[in-house]
Amino acid sequence: MIITRPRDWARVEANLEEIGARRVFIMGCGQCATVAKTGGEEEVLQAKAAIEQSGREVAGWTIGEVACHEGDTKLTARKHHDALETADAVLVLSCGAGVQTVADAVDKPVLPGLESVFLGNVVRHGVFEERCQMCGECVLDLTAGICPVTTCPKGLLNGPCGGMWEGMCEVLTDRECIHVLIRRRLSAQRRVASGSLAPKDFSKKLKPGSVNLRAGRKETGR
Ligand code: SF4
Ligand code: SF4
Repeated sequence: MIITRPRDWARVEANLEEIGARRVFIMGCGQCATVAKTGGEEEVLQAKAAIEQSGREVAGWTIGEVACHEGDTKLTARKHHDALETADAVLVLSCGAGVQTVADAVDKPVLPGLESVFLGNVVRHGVFEERCQMCGECVLDLTAGICPVTTCPKGLLNGPCGGMWEGMCEVLTDRECIHVLIRRRLSAQRRVASGSLAPKDFSKKLKPGSVNLRAGRKETGR
C-alpha cells in the first residue's frame, strides 16, 4: 500500500490563501490513506476543524472508496456534485495518485493534503515498512527474498559496506546489516550467494509507467 504522512498544514493554508478559497470540499480515501491513518474519517474531520478554525467554510466532505481509481472517484464526484459546485477548492487526503485522479474528475483547484512517502508492507496494524521500490528488475531470486535496494539504507545492491560492525548496520544501528541477513538466510536454505550482482538497469523501470491489458498488455514508460 502507499504510505502517506500529513502535509505541513501551514503549506495547505498558504495554498488555500493563494487561490482565495473561502469554501473547501474535503475528500479522503477509503484504502491506503485510511489504513495509514492519514485520510480516513478521523483525519478528514480534523482537516475540517482546522479549515473552519481558519475562518473558511467546509462545503462538504467524503471518503471515496479508492481515490486512485478513476471510475470510483468520478462516481464520488458525481454524488457530491452540488456541494462541489459551491466549493472554491478541493482538499484531498490521499496519495499523490489519488490527488491527480480527483483533479481529473472535478473542475476545481485540487490541493494535496498529504505527502506520499513510500510503497509499504503492513508489518502489523499501524506499522509499515518499505520493502520494494518497484525497480522493474527484481533480484529477490538471488537475495533470499530480501530486497537490498530498498532495505539497505544506502541502497547498496552489493554489500556489506565498510561501516558494517559485528553484523549490525552502521546507519540503522539497531538493525542487522541487510547483506549479512541475506547471506545468513541463503546459507540456512543451503543456497550459495551469487557473488556480485550486476548493476541494475534502471531503464527497466517503466517511467512514467503505463500498462494496458485491454490492448494485449501494451506497456509504455521507456
Ligand atoms: S529488487 Fe526491485 S522489484 Fe525486487 S523488491 Fe527490490 S525494488 Fe522491488
Ligand atoms: S551496514 Fe549493511 S545495511 Fe547498513 S548501510 Fe552498510 S551495507 Fe547497508
